[in-house]
Amino acid sequence: MWKKNQDSPDEGGVRVPDTKRFRNDSGNSGEIHVESVKSRARRQIVFSAVVFVLLFSLMAASFCRYAIVNQRILFDNSDNNRRYLLEKHNRRGTIYSSDDYSSGEEVLAESDDENNRSYPYGEIFCHAVGFASYGGGGIDGYMDYQLMTSNISFQERLKYDKEESLYPGNDVFTTLDVNLQQYAYEALLREYYRGAVIITEPSTGKIRAMVSLPGFDPNMLDYTWEGMRDDVNGRGELVNRATQGSYPPGSTFKILDAIEMLQENPSAMEDYSFDCQTGTFGEGDASIHCFDYEHHHEQNLKEAFAHSCNSAFASMVSEDLNLDQFRSTLKKMMFNGPLPYSLPYSESSSQLLVTEANGEEISRKELLQVAIGQGSTLVSPLHMNMITMAVANNGVLMRPYMIESLMAGDGKILRQYDPKTEKRLMDEDVARKVRTLMRGVTNVLPSDRTGENVWGTANEFNGTTNYMAYGKTGTAEFGDEDDSHAWFTGFTVADEDREDGQADLCITVVIENGGVGSDKAVPVAKEIMDRWYGEY
Ligand SMILES: [Zn+2]
Repeated sequence: MWKKNQDSPDEGGVRVPDTKRFRNDSGNSGEIHVESVKSRARRQIVFSAVVFVLLFSLMAASFCRYAIVNQRILFDNSDNNRRYLLEKHNRRGTIYSSDDYSSGEEVLAESDDENNRSYPYGEIFCHAVGFASYGGGGIDGYMDYQLMTSNISFQERLKYDKEESLYPGNDVFTTLDVNLQQYAYEALLREYYRGAVIITEPSTGKIRAMVSLPGFDPNMLDYTWEGMRDDVNGRGELVNRATQGSYPPGSTFKILDAIEMLQENPSAMEDYSFDCQTGTFGEGDASIHCFDYEHHHEQNLKEAFAHSCNSAFASMVSEDLNLDQFRSTLKKMMFNGPLPYSLPYSESSSQLLVTEANGEEISRKELLQVAIGQGSTLVSPLHMNMITMAVANNGVLMRPYMIESLMAGDGKILRQYDPKTEKRLMDEDVARKVRTLMRGVTNVLPSDRTGENVWGTANEFNGTTNYMAYGKTGTAEFGDEDDSHAWFTGFTVADEDREDGQADLCITVVIENGGVGSDKAVPVAKEIMDRWYGEY
């Protein structure tokens, strides 16, 4: 503006006077003219100085405003006025889905110039993406400060100042996949299930989908918040069951039994055997039975795992395993301790570690319950997914994450979150053997021992052509009646990777009060994966 005014002859007041011309035109009245020219020049200098000072002040004010509204110290202060200041100057940033796959980058949450937040997918992403108001939840709540802050360049800021519009807040790019999330949501919703699905990428730790039902529409919180906060209908919509749900793991816990067995006995794949003669194990109060009191007869480890024979695993844990070693394995597997996860979650618990912490001996009855993931054992779907991820990834757990990058409104990458190795949960050799066990669950495979077909409890996956599934089912009893939660946890290998067995996606499904795992959780997992791999 300033430069333009100087150059333009039309802007009279700022024009540089042509003194030469005045002098030459009139010799007699020269002095008057000279006086007049001097005074004009002085006015000109004063004017220019004023313009400069004004512009400088504007820039300084703009800079101060920018600095003030972006100071974390202000943000962390819960004073509503200061938060109001941020909202007054910055438009809250956008949350996007991942564009790693064909579904592409989609808006999951965005704000208008009045900072009204909208969630185009409504209930589908409600727990993962979360919400900004009412204290915040999910990614929107977790990244609150970054989304409300604007890190655009100084030049960019001037543009927004000129337009008198809000500075764009920083945008968050997530690892979530719109298609996978929709498939998971629809598979659960079809039967009005309560439960959770979490899908991750074991080679990177990227969380691809996270669904919890019942959910809520984050666009409607002004109408529904109080009821949900007080849980008036007992549905617990605000609980993210994928991370905060605590369930008895049922037979999915046999993955841990098998890991321990293989750690202590590397030849167990070849020489383990158990004769499930009566379909029960133990006596009196301290006894458990196989599903439907089935007699599984003579079995090796693969058969016992594929059949999910309770008697075999109760016998293994109570008679074959070294409990001190099992305890340290469970600690390594993050039971009764923190999980590597940044958003809210519930810790898992095993009675083996609870009794140790209390300086008590574990009773035989409790020990049999531990073996089959019953009793007081509690696990979140997130935790079971982490264990499965490590099995799928040669024993190494990649830290699960949902935020890929943070980008300023002018396109500058502020932070990039790369895959991070969390820790090795088991040896590569043990992981490989457990994968073999998990393959037997999802297939109908001839026994090494008898040559006859062994029907795994998730054999519904048998015969998929675009991918191959590995897994473990679980039916977790709770309460006094015949209530049970249905579990499936496993992973898939895309058809082109069948040979090297490179795991593609890891999926964990829990259906509350859903009955038998193979009846309820397996079809949900299979529907999601069939759609993802274009199986039909
Ligand atoms: Zn049995």
